[in-house]
Amino acid sequence: MKRIDQLDLAGKRVFIRVDFNVPLQGGAVTDASRIEAALPTIEYARAAGAKTILASHLGRPKGQVVADLSLAPVVRILRKKLATEVALAPDCVGPRVEKMVAELAEGDVLMLENLRFHEAEEKNDAGFARQLASLADVYVDDAFGTAHRAHASTAGIASYVDERAAGFLLQRECEYLGRVMSAPQRPLVAILGGAKVSDKIVVIRSLLQRVDSLLVGGAMAYTFLRAGGIATGDSLVEEQHLALAEELRNEARRRGVELLLPTDHVVAPSPADAARATTVEGAIPDGQMGLDIGPATSQRFSEIIAGAGTVIWNGPLGMFEVPPFDAGSMAVANALADSDAVTIIGGGDSVAAIKRSGRAGDITHISTGGGASLEFLEGKILPGLAALE
Ligand code: AMP
Repeated sequence: MKRIDQLDLAGKRVFIRVDFNVPLQGGAVTDASRIEAALPTIEYARAAGAKTILASHLGRPKGQVVADLSLAPVVRILRKKLATEVALAPDCVGPRVEKMVAELAEGDVLMLENLRFHEAEEKNDAGFARQLASLADVYVDDAFGTAHRAHASTAGIASYVDERAAGFLLQRECEYLGRVMSAPQRPLVAILGGAKVSDKIVVIRSLLQRVDSLLVGGAMAYTFLRAGGIATGDSLVEEQHLALAEELRNEARRRGVELLLPTDHVVAPSPADAARATTVEGAIPDGQMGLDIGPATSQRFSEIIAGAGTVIWNGPLGMFEVPPFDAGSMAVANALADSDAVTIIGGGDSVAAIKRSGRAGDITHISTGGGASLEFLEGKILPGLAALE
């Protein structure tokens, strides 16, 4: 896979697929992280003399033009961040867009309108992919968040352009996640949380082949605990997956992977009853729900993180949206930030937790793609990456 800085961009029309799928409220962008994450690639292209064309999806317009999902609010931020004029095209294909592209000078930036205003985008329609490709000499993909989707702008387009390369953000994602999969600094520790074991079966299996320790928290831990014969009270348990949880525990044992489950828990009669939260060790009594890992577990997890060479974290360790059930996730966030290990965080909730801890700046790599990072760690070939090969 080539990187953008390995191509000569001077005077060329460079189509950069970015992930500007940002949260909006009342027509304004509430979190510009994704825009900021793409700036190094855009700035590089401009400085190299490219005629830069930016393309992204935003929300789920399902093939219709939805005025509220226009990229106009994004363009307003881009203009400020790049300190230059950025034009917004009225569409992403068609004669008016072609005319705007033809008028671009070196260093100019044009943002195309929401790709998903066309249903052909998500269908990876060949004709649409060709139309997008006709705007460009060079295709650059910097949208890791959609790399696990085979869409026209992430997969189809690549075969219709002369040159293709990864942007710096995509490159960085591949580098860090790739290192977890192939040559991690050891010990390699994975921390998984979230609601369901069933969502993470494939990634657990893949990680069991690689990690030295697997730390499990969140509601999914209770399915593992129950499978091991420990009472879990009213905690969320996937009864239909008890046998699977037992099998994964056995697999860990066979492979010599240390699988750590919580030994104490913050419990309450229900999530709404936070005022009655208490800590219990071992078994969870009937009438109580485990809603966070307890302090002893946080301590143990933090010690393992402190001794790790590489740590990857995906999924909150408790119902972190509701204090005090955020304490476990905050403890782990701080342990990652304090650690000298290569630390990688993926998944919307874990990224939200590290941001809330105020320690995001102390993490080696925060992935911009929740679903994409999980699929990468599952060992799947992501269509967006395959298209660049
Ligand atoms: P997921 O989408 O599978 O990553 O799950 C994330 C959700 O799991 C978050 O909304 C958390 O509130 C929830 N969660 C984590 N731990 C627990 C728990 N012990 N009980 C109930 N929900 C939890």
